[in-house]
Amino acid sequence: MSDQQTKEPAVASRTFDKQGDATDQERIEAAMAGFAAEFGARTALYMNACVRCGLCAEACHFYLTTGEAKYTPIHKIRPFEKAYRQTRQPFSVLARAFNLAPGPSLDELQEWQELIYDSCTLCGRCTMACPMGIDIAELVKEARHGMYQAGLMPDRLAQITHNAEVKHSPFGEPEDFLKAISDIEAEFSIKLPVDRAKADLLFTLAPGELDEHHSSVAAAARIFDQLGVNWTMSSEAFEATNFGYLSGNVDLQRQLTCRLIDKAREIGASVVLLPECGHAWGAARWEAARWYGAPLDDLHVMHMIEYLAKHIESGAIRLKPASGTVTFHDPCQLVRRGGLGEAPRIILRALGMDLHELEDHGEEAFCCGGGGGVLANTRAEPLRLKAFELKKRQVEATGADRFVTSCGQCRLQFDRGAKSTGWSKQVESLLELVAANLTD
Ligand code: SF4
Ligand code: SF4
Repeated sequence: MSDQQTKEPAVASRTFDKQGDATDQERIEAAMAGFAAEFGARTALYMNACVRCGLCAEACHFYLTTGEAKYTPIHKIRPFEKAYRQTRQPFSVLARAFNLAPGPSLDELQEWQELIYDSCTLCGRCTMACPMGIDIAELVKEARHGMYQAGLMPDRLAQITHNAEVKHSPFGEPEDFLKAISDIEAEFSIKLPVDRAKADLLFTLAPGELDEHHSSVAAAARIFDQLGVNWTMSSEAFEATNFGYLSGNVDLQRQLTCRLIDKAREIGASVVLLPECGHAWGAARWEAARWYGAPLDDLHVMHMIEYLAKHIESGAIRLKPASGTVTFHDPCQLVRRGGLGEAPRIILRALGMDLHELEDHGEEAFCCGGGGGVLANTRAEPLRLKAFELKKRQVEATGADRFVTSCGQCRLQFDRGAKSTGWSKQVESLLELVAANLTD
């Protein structure tokens, strides 16, 4: 998360305010109602499939780096499971009548808040390890919906979510966006298209690009220019990140999704291009139609690395060789959860770089430790640093000169980790690497 976001004055979210006045029982009921809204056939299947084998534990970076039993993935969904057993499992009416399946208490929900917001990056590595195919990452995400309803979420994440609700973006208002674009134009002596009435491609940004990674915006502009694309950014729909998706605020998730889709249609764009951001890909590519409530057949939601790989393969983007050996961190939401594992390797091959893969890479890669809103949650820093150390050891073991990734949140997590531990390795953006090696 950018410094701009972490330095905002404290403002609680609307639901947080409302729930702040709620009684314990009202909070429990709000959480249970939020959980119940998620209980369908798939959840029932998951809840009844666990054989308590413990294999998911060895997949989770937070359990592996702390050794604490409470961080085992299956433990993180216990109150959600309790709520299911109390309300939806067969004979739950009888179970309730005889108090055989008590639901979670407020103390349990409070304790659980740390587990599902601080110690889960929704990375899905445990999901891959589970022999029963239980998607724990998805269950944690669904459980956040109930926690949000009960006002049980980390203050910092609530504040940033509130900013996304009332200011348009965690970064700020449209005027803040226009100011940042003007700063980037001055910094790189370029002109950037904003608010064109018609364009073929709507380019969106994450707060990290508007704040710390200005060079990524300039890099994208350079590539669009070489391709001769008719593109624009929009001051009314510039935000690619979705803090509704991360916090559990489904109304906000829907609102942010619809904003991007509606703007793309208004300007006649056929492509909504997402920046180097992981969860934006999950929210806008894989969940957009669900929240929009209609198919999006006329729009192609693309991630930057997918876009680059496509144009490199077609020969439209021509590259000169880049120097050095390289290792690549696979962002979980792009690769394991998002199906884009080949795209970065197409790009690195086209750059002629000698790729030294991490011990765990591709779909098996460990999370950076900051995904799923954990980077935005300042109190989770000690836990994040432990996950960072795991990744740092793997990067060093490759002996590669350069360390590259394609998610701004991963970059910020590595930058923060490097600063805290005095690590000299600088993580680089794949997009910026491409732009720096375009042939003239
Ligand atoms: S999704 Fe990732 S962080 Fe969350 S419990 Fe599973 S392995 Fe751990
Ligand atoms: S790996 Fe799957 S079946 Fe085994 S304990 Fe974890 S969730 Fe249960």
